[in-house]
Amino acid sequence: VGIAGIEPWGMEQTVICHDESVGLRAVIAIDDTRLGPGLGGIRLARYPDATAAIREAQRLAAAMTRKNAVAELPFGGAKAVVLDPGPGVDRAALMRRFGDFVARTGGAYLPGVDMGTTPHDLALVGESGAPVSCSHVDPSGWTARGVRRAIDAAVAHRGPGAGVAGLRVLVQGAGHVGRALALDLAHDGAELLIADADADRAAAVAAEVRGGVVAADAVIGTRCDVFAPCAVAGVLTPATIAALDCAIVAGAANDTLASPGCAELLAARGILYVPDFVANAGGVIQIHAERVGWDDHHLADAVDAIGPRVAGLLAEAAEHDTTPLAAAEARAARRLAAAPRVREAVA
Ligand code: NAD
Repeated sequence: VGIAGIEPWGMEQTVICHDESVGLRAVIAIDDTRLGPGLGGIRLARYPDATAAIREAQRLAAAMTRKNAVAELPFGGAKAVVLDPGPGVDRAALMRRFGDFVARTGGAYLPGVDMGTTPHDLALVGESGAPVSCSHVDPSGWTARGVRRAIDAAVAHRGPGAGVAGLRVLVQGAGHVGRALALDLAHDGAELLIADADADRAAAVAAEVRGGVVAADAVIGTRCDVFAPCAVAGVLTPATIAALDCAIVAGAANDTLASPGCAELLAARGILYVPDFVANAGGVIQIHAERVGWDDHHLADAVDAIGPRVAGLLAEAAEHDTTPLAAAEARAARRLAAAPRVREAVA
């Protein structure tokens, strides 16, 4: 409670997990379970100190609450971070032990895969008996499909036209989602620019989509119609927003805005920003589909619904002279306020 910068009462539960015998130091942040168990991935990463790890888990958990609420899924928001113990540690023992702590949450935390963890890790966590959102399907294609619907809705919001045909789209991050998104956009006549920290990967994907390559450190000032961040968090800061040369930002990366005030800065520059947690919900929708047994048609319909959802939020923001981020947060808050109380939802 006394740790500077941490909001102890900002969410339902924050669990600090520790077992030195297996090198485990982890944080489970359960933000909100009014809509259902808190769904969120397990991130394995290095952190400078415990405060940074707790803050990251809490921030990501809160984002999952908004993502799941706006996507109309029966999940709350949570996230875990496991501090990377470095080499020489028995990873299976680490994950199994972490699973014990997940099990103790009694189903309030429903873990998935996130940066640094794999479906195999998740299976080890599940050996404790803890429910896990086990998925053997790579959700990236569904995430890319949802981002594409978000881009289409944003383009349509700017005015009638030929959709993405002829538009210049800069995809930052040519990984699982970025590549699929670029292929989809190229198929429909967009002009692609590809950037990746891995120059070979950028070149390979650019060749596939007959697009150009932008150096990873030259992304921000490059002129384009749509900027699709699909790599790292925190790409948009006051300084980078001032240097952007695009009309629309819509991508898959989580936490694109370095701070909430960046949404106003984008609006002031006339740049239409689709909140990341609305655009990139395809992956969590896929997890839900797998759990309830939807076929691919049903899943595709649910992911495609991101399009009208974004259109509605952009119209709402314009009508109330607010930002799309504020409109999306208000929508999440309305859904949460209408939800049953905590114990009923989790029991
Ligand atoms: P990925 O690891 O497959 O690809 C990320 C790519 O970004 C890599 O090619 C990497 O080299 C590149 N990259 C890293 N730092 C970069 C930088 N500074 N500049 C340019 N490129 C850089 O990841 P992914 O699964 O494609 O996910 C992309 C983003 O979308 C992540 O932020 C992820 O959290 C988010 N996201 C993914 C999913 C999903 O279904 N995979 C769902 C929701 C959100």
